[in-house]
Amino acid sequence: MHELKLHNTLTGKTEPFVPLAAGEVKMYTCGPTVYDYAHIGNFRTFVFQDILRRYLKQRGLKLHHVMNLTDVDDRIIANAAAAHLGIREYTEKFAQAFFADCKALNIQAPEHWIRATDHIPDMVKLIEDLREKSFTYDSEGSIYYRIAKFPEYGKLSKIDLTGIQAGARVDNDRYEKESARDFALWKAPKPGEHFWETDIGPGRPGWHIECSAMAMKYLGETLDIHTGGIDLAFPHHENEIAQSEGATGKPFVRYWVHAEHLLVEGEKMSKSLGNFYTMRDLYGKGYKPSALRYALASVPYRRQLNFTFDGLTQATNSVERLRTFADRLKQGKFPPGSPAGFKERAGKALDDFDAGLADDLNTAVALAAAFDFLREANIAMDSGRFGSEDASAAAEFLAKFDEVFAVVAVNDAEKLKELGYGPAGDGLGDSEIDAMLAERQAARQRRDFAKSDEIRKKLADSGIILEDSKDGSVRWKRK
Ligand code: AMP
Ligand code: ZN
Repeated sequence: MHELKLHNTLTGKTEPFVPLAAGEVKMYTCGPTVYDYAHIGNFRTFVFQDILRRYLKQRGLKLHHVMNLTDVDDRIIANAAAAHLGIREYTEKFAQAFFADCKALNIQAPEHWIRATDHIPDMVKLIEDLREKSFTYDSEGSIYYRIAKFPEYGKLSKIDLTGIQAGARVDNDRYEKESARDFALWKAPKPGEHFWETDIGPGRPGWHIECSAMAMKYLGETLDIHTGGIDLAFPHHENEIAQSEGATGKPFVRYWVHAEHLLVEGEKMSKSLGNFYTMRDLYGKGYKPSALRYALASVPYRRQLNFTFDGLTQATNSVERLRTFADRLKQGKFPPGSPAGFKERAGKALDDFDAGLADDLNTAVALAAAFDFLREANIAMDSGRFGSEDASAAAEFLAKFDEVFAVVAVNDAEKLKELGYGPAGDGLGDSEIDAMLAERQAARQRRDFAKSDEIRKKLADSGIILEDSKDGSVRWKRK
């Protein structure tokens, strides 16, 4: 295994990652704000976090990973009030959609999935701690954090605080660097808006206090890793540091890891530009969850990801190549041994794969390691120089690959069906097709060609085309 390095926004350096407690990682991820369906930009960040999570596990680390649902913030309060719905009523649909989208993209559930609205007392307690240490002041029923009281304010986002007026306040949860001000920890109720009755008065939490309170409740005062998209570095994460370190006097997070944004065809994604996509929009256009996961994972997280439909088609083809190779390994007949040394070659592929991911999660290098190996192995198979020991070593490599990338299993049709897309009504699911193929292979082996033709025809009637290859393996495709 290669030494793992991660880029830390706090130090601006790519550093060896050493967890505080050997063998364990305490990680917090800012989850989605469930005021709408999450978009492909959001999922760029969530897929990156999943790759990080899976790779840490592959390295044998035990994870304590917390991810929250932001189910109360300015946008939710405004939308719920406009819809005359309670907050839970309003957010539940989007929370469930988010879970379903994660499942379709093979994003693993963290050890703790938590909701902000289940943790109001923890937030109140943290605000009380900060008040006791004079980090706060009250104004018109709201409570603000006094940034002048925390001299290290700005250390994450490196903002220049000169010229900022002491005591100037900002009430919005989200604002630009130029508007750095004392921010709201607790917001006074407004007519028609949801609020909680608490020891610090009626109102609702600011967005930033939510993550500080939840992260420290589940992971303690000092975390190993905190992740999110780059837009969260300021003000959200800067404010999390001010709140948490103000209250505890201890370092809050050791490694801040941020993903760059996704652009669409080179432009910022926005509804007004007509280039805004949710996962569901793309499933509706016929793209598969595996291709989307691949497209989102293939660009290293610190590079902007330029999402294009050409790129998505390429991702679809790359996933197909991986699956074809997996099929050949499963179904091919290979001579004994390792005639051309592919066993060692598979070991090198694994080493290159690990080197790529260890280098600040360079997924492009890790994928290149896999595809170089596939190309060479396919050539060896075509020329009959690929042995059974090579096949086992290659299968082992592919399994390691898929522990992190999670795109090889053929189950897109089932996932789409679950989400309400894909083959209409009586369309065959992937596992049904696989079962019919196995039956056909068995029929061919006992030379029952009538039966094997009958199955081929049945599949063809459902729009499934079979391709028999020289080495005896069979691939199928939807028309
Ligand atoms: P939100 O639901 O707005 O709190 O965002 C959820 C996550 O998506 C956060 O980590 C954001 O930083 C991230 N995010 C938002 N827009 C994009 C984008 N265009 N590309 C990548 N990540 C994004
Ligand atoms: Zn957060």
